[in-house]
Amino acid sequence: MRPTAKLHLGNYFSVLKNWVKLQEDNECYFCVVDWHALTSDYADTSLIRYYTREITIDYLSCGLDPEKSVIFLQSQVKEHAELFLLLGMLATVGRLERVPTYKEVRAEIKDKDLSTFGFLGYPVLMAADILMYKADAVPVGKDQEYHIEFTREIARKFNALYGNVLAVPRALFAPIAKVPGIDGRKMSKSYGNAIFLSDTFDEVRKKIMPMVTDTNRKRRTDPGDPDKCPIWLYHLLFNDDEESRNMIANGCRKAKIGCVDCKKILLQKIKEKMEPIWEKRAKLEQDQNYILDVLKTGSQKARETARKTMESVNEAVRIGLR
Ligand code: ADP
Repeated sequence: MRPTAKLHLGNYFSVLKNWVKLQEDNECYFCVVDWHALTSDYADTSLIRYYTREITIDYLSCGLDPEKSVIFLQSQVKEHAELFLLLGMLATVGRLERVPTYKEVRAEIKDKDLSTFGFLGYPVLMAADILMYKADAVPVGKDQEYHIEFTREIARKFNALYGNVLAVPRALFAPIAKVPGIDGRKMSKSYGNAIFLSDTFDEVRKKIMPMVTDTNRKRRTDPGDPDKCPIWLYHLLFNDDEESRNMIANGCRKAKIGCVDCKKILLQKIKEKMEPIWEKRAKLEQDQNYILDVLKTGSQKARETARKTMESVNEAVRIGLR
């Protein structure tokens, strides 16, 4: 995750929750990629360190465990820059310009300078982040499909040129592709429609209560359609009680339950699910030294693996003294 904002429910339900599960049976590396923040925000770096700590708090409060996984900060493992440089020699400019998000994001974001070498090359940096750990699977959202494909291509090209050193990873897609924001569009930190993991219950309530539901349901007595309502999608995420869900879906279709009551039930379910995360976050916020220690220790562990990879990479490319 790039430290350019706090994490929201979209990040949680699509990837973070999955990571927490994966760490139980796999050797996992989870990174805060601060150099990636510079690819779009090099002109204003004032909040990168703050968001680095906040995202680490998000990780830990949701259940990532530094005893089970390596949780680290990209810039503290300089080998990422070294591998980025070497892979950069293999990445063609034309190929990078064809990465679909490249044109899209450049067209969309007008208030930042994205005409840099750094922004064009960020898929190469991402490939370095992944290939460094010989990852066989990368748990990402569907929107990252092309970047993983790019990583696979560059790993194959490297192996074909220099010998079989890099593992070709596969994408492990998140089970939920799109969590809606409070305006019904995809939840995103850039749209002002996000519910953040760090929001208090009161803030969540103020975001949920005015939300637009099924627009065809104008009066309390009109029947509604849950499939056209973002609140229903939140029920699917937060409300595990099948009986309650059936009551809500049927009640909505037959106009037996109003939108306000439906939202109140949802808020109760959100509270039940989020309370342990909120409590953990409150404790972690009080101990900033611990947060920094987690990243320091994790970065040290990551560096050990990274050094080994770079030894075999440099040997394969025949770089250095021998
Ligand atoms: P944002 O759109 O807020 O800038 P990011 O691109 O930083 O989100 O999100 C990091 C990852 O979290 C993405 O690669 C994507 O897989 C996932 N993600 C973000 N928003 C959502 C969402 N609304 N629904 C599902 N997944 C999401």
